[in-house]
Order: sequence, then structure tokens, then C-alpha cells
Amino acid sequence: MARCHLHKFGGSSLADADCYRRVAHILLTHGNSDDLVVVSAAGKSTNFLYKLLELKDTGQLWQEELQVLISFQQNLIEQLLSNEQARSLRERLSIDKYQLISLFSLEALNKYKRNEVVSFGERWSARLLAALLRESGVAALDIDSRSLLLADEGGVPQIRLDESRARVQQALDDHANERLIITGFICANSRGETLLLGRNGSDYSATLIASLADIDRVTIWTDVEGVFNADPNKINDAKLLKSLSLDEANRLAHLGSPVLHNRSLQPLFDTQVSLAVRSSYASHTDFTLIAPKSSRASAPVVTNLSSVSLFSFRISTDVAHLTELLDGAGLMPLAHWKLAHDRVELAFTHENQQQVQSMLETDGLGISDLDLREDLGLVALVSADADLYRRGFARLLSRDARPLFKDGLSLVTLVPTSQVNLLTQKVHRRCAGPRKRIGVLLLGVGNIGEAWVDLFSRTRVALNKELEASVELVGLLSSKKALLKEEGIDLDSWKQDFEQQATPWLYEHMFEQLQALECDELIALDISASAELTLQYPEFFSRGIHVVSANKLAGSGPLAFYRELKLQLGNRRLFWRYNASCGAGLPVQHALNDLHNSGDSIEAIGGVFSGTLCWLFEKYDAKKPFSELVLEAKGLGITEPDPRDDLSGRDMQRKLLILAREIGHEIELDDIELNSLVPKELADIPLDQFLARIDELDHEMLQQFQAAAEQNKVLRYVAGLDVVDGQLKAAVGMEWVDTQHVYANLTPGDNVFVIRSAFYQDNPLIIRGAGAGREVTAAAVQSDLAQICRDLVQE
Ligand code: ASP
Ligand code: MG
Repeated sequence: MARCHLHKFGGSSLADADCYRRVAHILLTHGNSDDLVVVSAAGKSTNFLYKLLELKDTGQLWQEELQVLISFQQNLIEQLLSNEQARSLRERLSIDKYQLISLFSLEALNKYKRNEVVSFGERWSARLLAALLRESGVAALDIDSRSLLLADEGGVPQIRLDESRARVQQALDDHANERLIITGFICANSRGETLLLGRNGSDYSATLIASLADIDRVTIWTDVEGVFNADPNKINDAKLLKSLSLDEANRLAHLGSPVLHNRSLQPLFDTQVSLAVRSSYASHTDFTLIAPKSSRASAPVVTNLSSVSLFSFRISTDVAHLTELLDGAGLMPLAHWKLAHDRVELAFTHENQQQVQSMLETDGLGISDLDLREDLGLVALVSADADLYRRGFARLLSRDARPLFKDGLSLVTLVPTSQVNLLTQKVHRRCAGPRKRIGVLLLGVGNIGEAWVDLFSRTRVALNKELEASVELVGLLSSKKALLKEEGIDLDSWKQDFEQQATPWLYEHMFEQLQALECDELIALDISASAELTLQYPEFFSRGIHVVSANKLAGSGPLAFYRELKLQLGNRRLFWRYNASCGAGLPVQHALNDLHNSGDSIEAIGGVFSGTLCWLFEKYDAKKPFSELVLEAKGLGITEPDPRDDLSGRDMQRKLLILAREIGHEIELDDIELNSLVPKELADIPLDQFLARIDELDHEMLQQFQAAAEQNKVLRYVAGLDVVDGQLKAAVGMEWVDTQHVYANLTPGDNVFVIRSAFYQDNPLIIRGAGAGREVTAAAVQSDLAQICRDLVQE
């Protein structure tokens, strides 16, 4: 069985005896008997060891300082261990002391000897912690990582992965069921000489050993609770991030996050290891988890550096070559800009300044006019969705700021050092603060629902970006079941999730549940054909829920009901859009409103508002009976399940009513004359009987066709509304039209809307195209939804 967990404790977590006890407690309560542990030197021991070297180098006395360090260790031993173990550790410590004295007595210390001096800090911690754990009765062993990690020398040691992996695996096998306490920070070359992994290198040791040991989880126990979305020492309402993707963490580390070290993240790439950062002082609190892939977009993080080194120069050769060189030396700029006249700017941390400078001064790079500025600081935002925040961030930039540098994971600017804190606060408030959350409820999960989810998942990111808001699908409702998810429904698995997790619902409770959702606004998309649902619209509105309808039944309901709905909307910031209920995606209502807003007045509307009836009449040429065509259309799925719902003209009558009301005619459905194609005798009989007698439609149709043909006309089923002598005339029915007329020349399945107005008198405005179908209907719903969202954020 592979081991699961590696814990790493830094110097601040091991600063005194109480800290050690706390660490032992964490390992005993959070861990398993075979955990791996990586430790740093206690407190500031490493600094102390470096100081001893410096004293020796400068010919000063080091003996006294060495005794301070040894006493510190001795004290820890006395305070933490009982007699027998204490004695053994004391003995080993005095051996170490003499070894250090003999090292310092050498005339000159070479690099490896110096490293060996510094390595004692980690070795003492590992030894002490293992003893302390044994004291609690558990098996624990300290291991010197120089026996595990083999490296070649370079600017930083280059670990030989295969050999090191084999050694790590061997150690695991040799000590199954023991907690192994491993020194961080140190490794060895092939001659066994000591190499150091750089300051703060123990984090790197931890992730490296975890990847070699095939561990699932590394926890870095430190003195902060994790990664915050801004520096909590500077920003009052900075929030702890619960999750972060490895890419984001990596970028953040590169830009100077105080918690994460760039190099320590590298071993995690291409592994499944997740990394937790949490506080050893408050082990019960929340923490940050960095995973190879974070499933949901994390909140953005704002970070800053009070000052950076900005190199500015002209370059005559290829910049790519320079970047490669820098990259090769591990010197990736924090951000870079290309200015006019081949001028390039590269920002680096001060730490890297000297190395970069000497590189830029190398001959042959074609660099001239090199200039260095150190009076600028950096403010950056890191997020996998960084692009979403670009506009918001850019609006905050003063004239002194560098334009935003972006790389997909971050947005970076430089400003004079004195402005860094203020800009950080502003970016935090504007971009990392709460965004408006707009929850969408999908009522109806069939065919059109599917097309809409598809469209929504394709357009959501762009919409969120445009609006600087978060629009999420939070509910799916069929007539019987509902699935509500405050955090958002997964757009990839929504169908399955609905089938598996939806529960029965009742209107009474539903609204309570909807109101409990943590959303700033809710928008319901009614893509059902349910009359019962439209009866709930007043309830939706009174609870402040906006509605988008593809459902025609509310817009064409009884006038009193319709008026009540409009009254409810009144002057409130509440929206009801129903562009999809008429002509699907065709922008009919848009056009009518547009004309109205531009001072036009609409006089008449006519057209073919049914794709089914359009299809039937474009196809009918009397060569085969009309009823046969109807059955063919039914077979193709072009008609309603009961074709009489199309043939009755009801549907067109409702659409005409919606448009009539849209342009201000307050009428009832019955004010529109309806001439059904279904004879009375066939209207109310069961469907199967109707289908059996459907040929009764044929005789009348044939006669009409022939009579019309004699006058050079064709049959069309049309809707029309006009004001004649001050009287409104509205009707739906079959008409004879000229063969040249637009109605006579449609693509089967189209809708056409012909609008006559003051501005479009002799030559009316015509809108035509596919007027039904899942994609165009979904598009109409999405367009209404987007419009409402836009209206909502524009405050
Ligand atoms: N003890 C070493 C240092 O202080 C390594 C570490 O703490 O990560 O840099
Ligand atoms: Mg440290």
C-alpha cells in the first residue's frame, strides 16, 4: 500500500518546545502510522549557522555563538524528552558540537564543508521530532535526506530523479509502518558531499519527496492559515482561499506570494499530488488546497511587491533568444512590455536583479541604452479567469501605471512604490470583492432546454466577462421534479444529475426554496407549454424573480391577467421578456420596440407565424390530397402531436395577440377572428378518430385551391392586424394571395412578419426566417436572458 500523506513543518512551526509539542499532537491526531514528515531547522537556526560561518570568515570569535545554538538545542531536548532518550540525544549533540568545532578549526572551509555546517539545523529537528514521537509510544525514525536525494551540481542542485526515487522507495520498504522524519533543505552529490536546496528549500524537499514516494497529499504546516485573496496584513477583508489550481498557485508564487515558493510547486506538475497549506497554530481551521486541477474557478487573488527592478533597453536581435537565455537561467520576468522603437521592458524581483543585469550586459545580444529603475512596485491579479477582470482592473489604472500585462493567468501592472498599497486595495475591492450572482432557473428540461444549456455553456464565460458578474444555472425544474444547486449546476452532467438527484416538488414549498438560494437575482426561463406554470407568474414577480418566456400562454392569457402582470412589473426593477414566444429567434418584438422608440407608429402587422402551416401551404399543389401532406408533416415531426393544434390556427392567433398587445392594443384572444381549418365535426373527437377521418379536409381544400388558381392566386394561412377607419381588425385564417406576394414565396417552415408603419408605409418592413426549432428558440431565450442580465448589472 502506498503511503498517503506527507507533512512538512517549517522553522516557525518548530520555534520552541511548545511548538514541537503542537507538531507532535498534529501528527498523532491528523496522521497515520506511516506518514512521511519533512522538517526545517528549528526557528532561526539556519540563519544562526550562516552567522557562525560569517564570523569565522571575518576572523571573529564564533565559539560563544556556537554555544548559544547548542544550548538552544539542549534546552529543547531537556524540555521535551524523558531521561533515557534525552541522554542519547544529548550525547549525539555533543558529538555534533565537536564536529562543528573541528570544521570551524579548519583553515578554510570549502563549499561542501560550509553546506555541512548549515545542514545541522535540519538534522537536529528531524532527530528531536522523531524522539518526541517515540516518547508518545509510536514508531518513528529520523532520516538524513542526503541518503535519499542525489543531485548534480548547478546553480541549484539538479536532482537525479530515477536514482533518488529508487532510494526513497527503498527507505519506504525498509521502514513500513514507521513515521519517517526526513530533513528538508539538504541533499548530496554522488561523492556524498552536502548540497543545499536554497533558502526555504524544505518546501521543495517536501513536494519532491512526495512525488518520488507517490504520495497523494502534502500538507505544508506553517504559521498562516493558507493563501488569502490578498495580504491579510494589509487588506481588512482578505479571505482565505479554499482552493486554487496548481497553475494559479504557480503564477502567484512567481509574482511573489509570501506563502508559496515557486520552486516547491514544480515537482507537483504532472502528478496527482495535492498540496494543502495550513496553520500549525490553528490546525482546526480552514485551509487552502492546491490541486493539479481545480474544478471550479477559484476567486481571484491580488498580490503585490512594494518594489521591483525594471530593466528597459533597446534590442536589435530577436527578443525570443534573450527570453530563452533568461529562462534557461531560471530568470523568468515577472512581466514584460514591448514599447515603441524596439524598446523592451522586463520586470524582475530585486533578488534576481544582479544576475539579470550581468546577463543583459553580455556582448552579442544587441542590447543598448540599458536603463534600470527601482522606484516602481507591482500589483497583480491572479486567476485562471484573469481575462474576466481585465476591464475592471484597467479602469483603476492611473496615468503613472504601466499598461496591463496579461498572460492568461494574471494581470500585472507597475506603479510608483507609493501607490502600490492603494491600488492593491482598489483592485481587491473591485475585482476580488463579491460579484453580482445571477441565478438562472430552467423550467422545462426537454428538447429546447437541452439546446439552451448547450448554448449557455458556450456563451457564459463571455457574458460573465462582459458583465463582470457571475451568471449561473442554479435550478432545473420539470413539471414533477426539481434540482436546485446553489453553487451552480454542472453544465456537462446536468442531465444525469437531474435524473439522479432531482426530487418531487410542490409550488408551495418551491418558492421558499428558491428564495433561500444565495443569489442576488433570479431569472426563471419558462420553456414549458404549461398553463399551470403561467398561473404562477404573479408569484414569481411578487418575489422579485424575473421571467423569460418561450411559453406563449401568459402573454396571450386573459387580458385581466396580462394587465395584472404588467402592473406588477410597473416601475419595479423587474423584467419579463418573451421574445421567444413569437417567431422564436426572429427579432420581431425587438423590431417593434425599436420602431416605437424611434418615434414610428405601427399601423399593421401581418404574416405567417406558424412554421407548420407555412410548410403545408408552400408544399400543397393539389397533386396529392392535403390530408396526405398533413400526415407526412406529422411523420417528420413538424406538427404538434395532434395536428389540429396547428390546423386550428390557435397558435397563430395567440402569437398575433402577443404582438397586438406589444404595440398597445389591449384586446382579448377572442377579439381576433379565428378561421380554423378543422371542420366543427372533427374538432372535438379523439385523435385516433380524427386521423381516421382526416381525408374529410381534402374536398374543401381542393375546391379552394382551384378557385384561387383561376384568379392566379394561391392559398396561404395568414394572420393580420390592421386599423381600418379607426376600427381594429384582427384575424387568422386562410386567404388567397397573389403568386408574387411574400407570403407566396417562403421557404417551407419559415415564419414571416410584415410590419407597416408610418416610416415603412409603401414598402413594409419584413422579417423572415426560421421561426421554430430548438436552436433558434434557445437562442431567443438566451438573448432575452442576456438582456435582462445586462439591465440588472447596469446600476
Ligand atoms: N532551514 C532552511 C532555511 O531557513 C530551509 C527552510 O526553512 O525551508 O532556509
Ligand atoms: Mg523556513
